[in-house]
Amino acid sequence: VAKSLGEGRRRRYTRGMDVAAGEQARMGAEMRQALDTGQFRLVYQPIVELPSGRTVAVETLVRWEHPVRGPVSPAEFIPVAEQNGLIVELGAWILKAACAQAAIWRDELGPAAPRRIGVNVSARQLAEPGFPELVANVLAWTGLGADKLTIEVTETAVFGGGQALRAVKALYELGVKIALDDFGTGHSSLTLLQTLPVNILKVDKSFVDNISMAGRHAVIATALIQVSNGLGLDAVAEGVETAEQAAELHRLGYRLAQGYYFGRPAAQPDFAASAELPSAA
Ligand code: C2E
Ligand code: MG
Ligand code: MG
Ligand code: MG
Repeated sequence: VAKSLGEGRRRRYTRGMDVAAGEQARMGAEMRQALDTGQFRLVYQPIVELPSGRTVAVETLVRWEHPVRGPVSPAEFIPVAEQNGLIVELGAWILKAACAQAAIWRDELGPAAPRRIGVNVSARQLAEPGFPELVANVLAWTGLGADKLTIEVTETAVFGGGQALRAVKALYELGVKIALDDFGTGHSSLTLLQTLPVNILKVDKSFVDNISMAGRHAVIATALIQVSNGLGLDAVAEGVETAEQAAELHRLGYRLAQGYYFGRPAAQPDFAASAELPSAA
């Protein structure tokens, strides 16, 4: 036993892992400082209606401008923040700032303002006791209606059940919209749909990527829009980069889309701009 334990230890602390762990610890410490000195900011990406290209909602995405390293991708630092727990504080800041921004747009732009704002929430945040209360407090504080907020969760974050699932149910009861992010990439996407209260399916970019080449991607994208329609949910196609993809998605029945073709994430997106689909010739 002692021997296998020793071997296990040695394998765990190989040099490569050490460096990675050190790097993680350093990033964690720097994130703490970044929070205190205001290095995080938010950008918003339009979610548009097809075929008009009109912005109906936005998704909030966090950005970190490191004073020395420059921009750090959330794909890199969010997992670290989840691991060391900093996501709880960072996430609360993101939620407040996003809802405050949505209220400002509503007041300043009136009918031209996006109707809903989406905020990504990680597993760790959902599992935190009191998360639904935090959301309710932020809504009260900003005066934003519950139905104007979409909480984006991933399938893996809620699949374990427990507190995360209870939180999603409580948010749904509150009237907050629930979106399943990166839909179709989890291990049990359809199983989850049988029980999870949800309003929106965000169909993952991987199904959109080769959609114009009438193959299996298009077949799956069609099946997903049928499931979505059948359950009375909204489907948003993620990661739309070309006019061809947008046109094909529209042809397959998609009414909502998001991606670089329609607009990159920006601090102040141009809500008047629209990339209307070229009408079929
Ligand atoms: P996500 O929630 O699925 O966000 C969509 C990602 O796709 C964003 O990357 C967005 O910039 C990118 N994207 C949008 N349109 C296109 C496109 O046409 N082509 C390509 N190639 N990419 C596109 P980003 O901002 O780097 O965020 C990556 C992930 O990090 C997010 O995936 C989300 O899981 C996480 N994340 C970002 N912001 C937050 C946040 O505020 N809180 C939490 N918990 N996670 C966040
Ligand atoms: Mg998202
Ligand atoms: Mg997504
Ligand atoms: Mg995605």
